[in-house]
Amino acid sequence: MIRAIYPGSFDPVTLGHLDIIRRAAGVVDELVVGVLTNKSKRPLFSIGERVEMLKRCTAGLENVRVLSFDGLTVEFARSQDARIIVRGLRAVTDFEVEMQIAQNNRIVDHNIETMFLTTGLQYAYLSSTIVKEMASYGADVSNFVTPDVAAALAEKFAAKGPAE
Ligand code: ADP
Repeated sequence: MIRAIYPGSFDPVTLGHLDIIRRAAGVVDELVVGVLTNKSKRPLFSIGERVEMLKRCTAGLENVRVLSFDGLTVEFARSQDARIIVRGLRAVTDFEVEMQIAQNNRIVDHNIETMFLTTGLQYAYLSSTIVKEMASYGADVSNFVTPDVAAALAEKFAAKGPAE
């Protein structure tokens, strides 16, 4: 039984994340998507909202579960009995940071491997930050997120008022 975790902020989940989830779920027996609660930057969506959105868009994937977690990624992996951490690599800019995280995680627990999946080309420059920026100006984000997430973004920014 090969179980992997896919950790991230998912604020909110994008089609780039979903591409990684689908592909990772195709090569492992079970994938646990871990939504990180303790981020230093204030997220737009609460932890509950982020988990719910992910659950809805992965509902069709039988071997995918979504949980929230706090603290070290390696500890979350251990708590799930997972030996693999999945991460997505976009452009070279991700490389440096992801290498650092992976090397550090291996120092913390040498039994845990990081598995990188290269992003689909159409998502190579997509990030939650860009999606939020666009949505804050009322731009159409339907090429980047599911309809469900697009609606949640519209609602969030309608409640917040126009971006300054
Ligand atoms: P974090 O704050 O941990 O980087 P993110 O939610 O931004 O959390 O990203 C989680 C993971 O998904 C990271 O491995 C990141 O590189 C990857 N990722 C983010 N956006 C994309 C994308 N468009 N395509 C593929 N992977 C992505």
